[in-house]
Amino acid sequence: MQVVSEVLLQRTRAETVAGILPAFLEHYPSWHALSEARGEELEQFLVPIGLWRRRARSLLALARKLASEGFVFPLGERELLGWPAVGPYVAAAVRVFVHGKPAALIDEGVARLLGRAYECRTRVDIRADKALRELAEGICAGPNSRELNWAVLDVVAKHCRPRVPSCDGCPFAVDCMYIRKAK
Ligand code: SF4
Repeated sequence: MQVVSEVLLQRTRAETVAGILPAFLEHYPSWHALSEARGEELEQFLVPIGLWRRRARSLLALARKLASEGFVFPLGERELLGWPAVGPYVAAAVRVFVHGKPAALIDEGVARLLGRAYECRTRVDIRADKALRELAEGICAGPNSRELNWAVLDVVAKHCRPRVPSCDGCPFAVDCMYIRKAK
């Protein structure tokens, strides 16, 4: 159910999602349970994190699609991207957490961190930023991709916050352009 968390984490802070996740997973412990959920009930669980109607629709559509495919996610990114509620971030999450394949999860936080540290951003739209994707894949899409993605997401949450980063102890500090310029 890691993929469910990743779907919920889009456009939402980890602390906010963490507030509902235990109860959510207790009520919907599997994709099968989620595929049989009633829309209104699902919405009620999602109200505290916002965008509940849209999220409920997306999750339900994804769970039902998965049910129709025998609860097996496709391996290929292109095919995954054709599924409901699956963009590049969720497709990468499926590859990493379901199939154990290397991929890079790139959300706003990861883009912010890599943009600050390496000044790699070439596009505002994360999806269109090839340089960002290549850099993220160079860091996260190797052996131990799951742990590497978790580590980077953890650094974003602990250190590279949107307004004022907390750079002490950040493992990217040694190469970080943001710090160099601030000195
Ligand atoms: S050193 Fe600071 S600005 Fe650079 S990546 Fe780490 S937290 Fe972000």
